[in-house]
Amino acid sequence: MFKENLANLRAYSPGPSVEEIKRTYGLKRLVKLDSNENVYGASPKVGEAIAQAALLPALYPDCRDQDVRSELSWMLNVREEQFLFGSGLDEIIVLISRTFLASGDNIVMAWPTFYEYYCHAQIEGAEPKKVPCDADGRHDLSGMLAAVDEATKVVWICNPNNPTGTYINDRELADFVEKVPEDVVIVLDEAYIDFVTAGDFPRSLDLLKDHPNIVVLRTFSKSFGLASFRIGYAIGQSRLIDEIDKVRPPFNNPRLSQVAAFAALQDIDFMKDCTRKNQEVLAMTTAFLDDRKIPYYPTQTNFIYIKAGDPKGVAEQCKKKGFLINPFQDGVRITIGKMDDMKELLAVLETALSETSSKPSI
Ligand SMILES: *Cc1c(COP(=O)(O)O)cnc(C)c1O
Repeated sequence: MFKENLANLRAYSPGPSVEEIKRTYGLKRLVKLDSNENVYGASPKVGEAIAQAALLPALYPDCRDQDVRSELSWMLNVREEQFLFGSGLDEIIVLISRTFLASGDNIVMAWPTFYEYYCHAQIEGAEPKKVPCDADGRHDLSGMLAAVDEATKVVWICNPNNPTGTYINDRELADFVEKVPEDVVIVLDEAYIDFVTAGDFPRSLDLLKDHPNIVVLRTFSKSFGLASFRIGYAIGQSRLIDEIDKVRPPFNNPRLSQVAAFAALQDIDFMKDCTRKNQEVLAMTTAFLDDRKIPYYPTQTNFIYIKAGDPKGVAEQCKKKGFLINPFQDGVRITIGKMDDMKELLAVLETALSETSSKPSI
């Protein structure tokens, strides 16, 4: 009775709750640095706007997210019909997969990268082709290009990449985009764009005019601190956006999520302040790691990937000391916390790295 292509998938496992972990380990405090949420929260304007909003619980929300749409259109200088809103980028990834993929197709993606690209290709019966990141944790663009074939429908570029934090620059991306066939959709997932400081980071919106096959993804979950509201968006040429809109459930963004996102856009200073603090703590973090010759990938985001011989063991030790971080295959991904938390965590991490196994060399 079950679909064959779901056989090898597992449901997302959130792990034990914060309260459960605190109880298990006898902790007074557990600092969540495992999901790249905004550790500074959201603008106070969001709370005010929510409190003042008429609740209207019996009415369906605006199916076009008109207020947020107009505001973003003005801010980003992109036409209103070029936006598509989703219940987080998670849903937009589902919608893109649903729109373009069928059995017999394939997608090309980096590895490691955001897992949802993989998951939804499988659900649609398409083959996910994983192209390993290079030794510097960056997308191997020539490898990805070589993986594109007749059956490729979507290429996923996570820029900057989650979990490695590395980025593709403007020249590399422009070159890549020129070489990918025009009938292959190129998705640029820019969930972390507001944290980027590199001067040569691509201006992806400028690519849209000449490339009807590009979709850019952005979210309110990270830099704006609205992960709980589940709102993100895609930008592309309207022909492509209209196609994805055919598979979108019409009322996919609750009214209060739209109110929250609109309010967050009225306080860009708050968001900028968060990204500035992130820079400060990140600088402290990399100085600490450099000092001790602990290898990591340079990051353009609010998280950092630190190499570890026994990632699970390191994450477990950090958890016992009150810090939740995320283990991957050959390292741990840590959200850049507040200054004091991060200093404390780095001390815990240093001990954990030396106790679990010898440090891998770069
Ligand atoms: C967090 C994240 C998302 C999902 O964001 P939501 O808008 O909260 O669903 C998508 N892509 C990447 C790379 C992310 O890190």
